[in-house]
Amino acid sequence: MSRIAYVNGRYLPHRDATVHVEDRGYQFADGVYEVCEVWAGHLVDEARHLDRLDRSLSELRIPTPMTRKALSAVLHEVVRRNGVKDGLVYLQVTRGVARRDHAFPAPGTMPGLVVTARRSDRGGQEALAARGVSVITVPENRWPRVDIKSTSLLPNVLAKQQAKEAGAREAWFVDQDGFVTEGASTNAWIVTADRRIVTRPAESGILRGITRTVVLEEAAALGYTVEERPFTVDEAHGAAEAFITAATTVVMPVVRIDDRPVANGAPGTVATALRLKFHAFSALS
Ligand code: PLP
Repeated sequence: MSRIAYVNGRYLPHRDATVHVEDRGYQFADGVYEVCEVWAGHLVDEARHLDRLDRSLSELRIPTPMTRKALSAVLHEVVRRNGVKDGLVYLQVTRGVARRDHAFPAPGTMPGLVVTARRSDRGGQEALAARGVSVITVPENRWPRVDIKSTSLLPNVLAKQQAKEAGAREAWFVDQDGFVTEGASTNAWIVTADRRIVTRPAESGILRGITRTVVLEEAAALGYTVEERPFTVDEAHGAAEAFITAATTVVMPVVRIDDRPVANGAPGTVATALRLKFHAFSALS
């Protein structure tokens, strides 16, 4: 089955799916995005993703490209046309096409909308989760509005490449006080020796991950104590477990931080339990 992308009102073969050179997403990274897990053909936690999209758009004063109902129909249609049962659906909204000028274009400029979907290799993901992944730490160098899911991701791109070159899967940003903020494309978590789950509050320095929100609910349902507070790299090095969360990875155990194993270097029981619980949530959502 050939891949299809939705671009500004049209369903196009993926290879022909292009945007204008003066699209502000291309010129200025003036746009926002969402990534949603697709499980058995349905979108996991669609409403919360679209709520966050609305928030990102309103924070940047980008008009909504279409009603929520219409957008939902496009998302489902792209998933259907690509035959995606298990995978990801990506949507991006930009401030539209206009003559290159930093200030906002004239009112009435149509926002740009692109939607793509792709299959994921569930077996490969589960095998990875059974092994766990490595992360490196890098200095936080992003703008303060990381609460907006903006396409301006250059520091995240560079951090992820640095991780890749170091043989790791993710980079954790560390703020000036030595506290981990989050990963380049994931939220960061640790589990203390007495099995308390710790993650940074979403009020500053991180994106409020949708997976994070669900995991907080699951952790409480499983009877774990959760502390929303910042943690340092030192604390993470001494933790019983660490893991990352995102729609792209779900709950992924972290077994190495920089040059040190986390505990015995194997995925922990808490992260593994949360991953299973998340899959059950995805199946029902
Ligand atoms: N933090 C950053 C910087 C991200 O880019 C992402 C996802 O792309 C997340 C956290 C996790 O968010 P979610 O769980 O909604 O996928």
